[in-house]
Amino acid sequence: MKRRDALKNLSVWPVAGIALGTVLPLESLTASPATPPPVKRNLFKELGIRTFINAAGTFTAMSGSIMHEEVLDAIRLTAGEFAMIDEVQDKVGAKIAELCHSESAMVTAGCWSALVLGTAGVLTGMDPKKVAQLPVLDGIKSEVLVQKTHNSGYVHALTNTGVKIVEVETPQDVEKAVNEKTAMMWFLNYAGPDGKISDKEWVALGKKLNIPTMIDMAADATPVENLWKFNDMGFDLVCVSGGKGIRGPQSAGILMGKKDLVAAARLNAPPRGGNIGRGMKVNKEEILGMYVALDKFIHLDHVKLWKTWEDRVALMAAAAGKVKGVTTTVTVPPVANRTPTLNIAWDISKVKVTKEEFQLRLRKGEPSIEVMGGKDNSINLTSWNLQPGQEKIVARRLKEELDKASV
Ligand SMILES: *Cc1c(COP(=O)(O)O)cnc(C)c1O
Repeated sequence: MKRRDALKNLSVWPVAGIALGTVLPLESLTASPATPPPVKRNLFKELGIRTFINAAGTFTAMSGSIMHEEVLDAIRLTAGEFAMIDEVQDKVGAKIAELCHSESAMVTAGCWSALVLGTAGVLTGMDPKKVAQLPVLDGIKSEVLVQKTHNSGYVHALTNTGVKIVEVETPQDVEKAVNEKTAMMWFLNYAGPDGKISDKEWVALGKKLNIPTMIDMAADATPVENLWKFNDMGFDLVCVSGGKGIRGPQSAGILMGKKDLVAAARLNAPPRGGNIGRGMKVNKEEILGMYVALDKFIHLDHVKLWKTWEDRVALMAAAAGKVKGVTTTVTVPPVANRTPTLNIAWDISKVKVTKEEFQLRLRKGEPSIEVMGGKDNSINLTSWNLQPGQEKIVARRLKEELDKASV
């Protein structure tokens, strides 16, 4: 067919779509005109699943964050074709590494998966026998140093590989604890301010003692500079969540750092099997979606974004603050989930409701709203998971429920 004829034919197609009263996807055009247009299913309604306004935060149980449109486009537009997972990881990894100043990077099934696979990579190197052996550590290093105040539930990601956690408190403890079994030194960013050894000192100790260092900065993508700060600082491995502040797929995360360690981590991960990471699969859509989310997030106007979060929180605070006996305070956590956080506290003699009951009333209201419980008679709210305009709905509901409980 000549190009002109092809164009002529193409020009007829949209008309056919309009004749059917709707814009149809291309594949529908070959169906008979009697075929009804596909109905978009509302699965939440269909299955009776409660949806809500999320004024709480980026919690796993609440499904993380809302993906950017660009991420959804990336997922949809890459779902229709096949690609080799290793090639997708290679190409995306190179882009992420460039964006975040690391030697190498891979997309994982969340930050937790980055922690497991990164640790596994440190233990096995490029030795396939060791990869097959994990989590049995015969002949493999088996200890990870963790500051006492960093020894939280998240270390289970590390012990999944078979390692034992060795607690330390001071630089002297670290020097004493290191032996031929020491595999890695792990730092939990949100516990940074509570520990006796800072991130920089941790890295310096690792370099001095020749032990690889890893940092868990899962919920610390704000400020955005954090995404390269720890690579620049010299951590050998950096682990981040994709579905928190970055607003990528909640089932994705990033492991970045030294080339040899990321390569070794990939040996412990799909598409290869017979390893401890086989269950931590990410497909091309999530890998590419994660890349698009990261790129989008890094290039956002973060000053403007912060102002949006602040304005929303101020609006909610103003509404609640009108009620007698209510005090509102806005703070920013020093680490982890750095976003303006509103505390609404009330004098129980003036506003007669427990925080649990108050949360329940917001949850059961129309529309349903989730907030966090605070200390004593108070709740905490953040605004980064709100869709534009939802802050007004939350403000109205807060005032209504506080008024109702007022004596
Ligand atoms: C959320 C979180 C994780 C787990 O990250 P996922 O992306 O949900 O797998 C690990 N460590 C910390 C500190 C976290 O906050």
